[in-house]
Amino acid sequence: MNSTTEKRIALISVHGDPAIEIGKEEAGGQNVYVRQVGEALALLGWQVDMFSRKVSADQETIVQHSRNCRTIRLTAGPVEFIPRDNGFMYLQEFVEQLREFQRENGIIYPLVHSNYWLSSWVGMQLKSIQDSKLVHTYHSLGAVKYKAIAKDNIPLVASQRLAVEKQVLETAERIVATSPQEKNHMRSLVSSKGQVDIIPCGTDIRRFGSVERTAARADLGIDPEAKLVLYVGRFDPRKGIETLVRAVRESKLHGSQKVQLMIGGGSTPGNSDGRERDRIEQLVNELGMNEFTSFPGRLSQEVLPTYYAAADVCVVPSHYEPFGLVAIEAMASGTPVVASDVGGLQFTVVNEKTGLLVPPKDVAAFRNAIDRILSNPQWRDELGRAGRKQVINKFSWDGVAQQLDELYTQLLEQPVKEQPVKEPALLS
Ligand code: UDP
Repeated sequence: MNSTTEKRIALISVHGDPAIEIGKEEAGGQNVYVRQVGEALALLGWQVDMFSRKVSADQETIVQHSRNCRTIRLTAGPVEFIPRDNGFMYLQEFVEQLREFQRENGIIYPLVHSNYWLSSWVGMQLKSIQDSKLVHTYHSLGAVKYKAIAKDNIPLVASQRLAVEKQVLETAERIVATSPQEKNHMRSLVSSKGQVDIIPCGTDIRRFGSVERTAARADLGIDPEAKLVLYVGRFDPRKGIETLVRAVRESKLHGSQKVQLMIGGGSTPGNSDGRERDRIEQLVNELGMNEFTSFPGRLSQEVLPTYYAAADVCVVPSHYEPFGLVAIEAMASGTPVVASDVGGLQFTVVNEKTGLLVPPKDVAAFRNAIDRILSNPQWRDELGRAGRKQVINKFSWDGVAQQLDELYTQLLEQPVKEQPVKEPALLS
């Protein structure tokens, strides 16, 4: 590339707004990832526009994050929250609004990085209409998700999603898998065609890891003697919080130690995360765990480093996890992780070195793993130090952004076919 103005990219995240509060319904890893990628790329000289769907009239249309990085909210469908499984019908309008934005601003994005299958449909339209190069990150694969849930819970949009996920794998210039496990799933469950690179998610190693355990506990008013087990994440049955609650109930350390459980994450009453939180609170109540269990609610990215630092162990009990940012955030903070032996967690958590991997949904295995770490502070610290080292070596944002920068640059340097602007294909 000859000039910096050519380093222009649109990040598409139709349902995962990079500018909103993280940790509530349908706002988790994807929002964090897009925002972090956007800001890191801007520091590397890219002009970054991140497109999302406006879900409330109070939201600003354009949020400027830094000089070269902004979120642009397009109006597509009703200006209200729509669960992602119902979002497909508004994509055509999203594409039209994005093209309108391009026309008004004299921009044609040469490169588009889409996130989640809904956005991949938008990306494929832009590729077909204006020859934008397309990079895609799945964040979750329908083929994996639908295998893990009961038939009755499979949404109507499932067949559409599976078809779009196959099409984007076979047609995008590049797919970014965030772990080798995710790439294997693409190959075994979706298609053998298409180009896949593995570039992990990253985290901020300066923010996470900046607080000491004693100071963090003093800050949060947590007993210095307590054995603190922490969960951070959305309230979603897939996250396996029930397994964690039951495991902590069965800990053999009650009596001799002050075991505490903290379940951090936001929720909205009446929405699906609100229902899951009610269910978990009820379980805590039924199991007689109220005295040593707390729900601090949504934790902002600013306070999270203190929570991770205060914990003796962070537990990620997901039934499935494509990557799992929480695990690397905890490790960057020097806190060992007990995680389900699934998906991206197998890539980030090194069993017996930075934490422990155990079979998902296995209450006894989680209880055993948590107790092993809580009862041996010296080993806890060793695991914590190794975890931080692992994140610094493999999952720091600086390194991850560099890899994306190289991929994008390489794609933009490939010759562009000279073609007239085409009209979009209709929804099929
Ligand atoms: N998160 C947060 N506040 C909360 C709960 C979660 O900021 O109260 C963030 C968390 O720090 C992580 C993201 O949400 O960056 C969750 O990402 P992960 O990949 O673990 O799970 P996902 O939400 O994608 O399923």
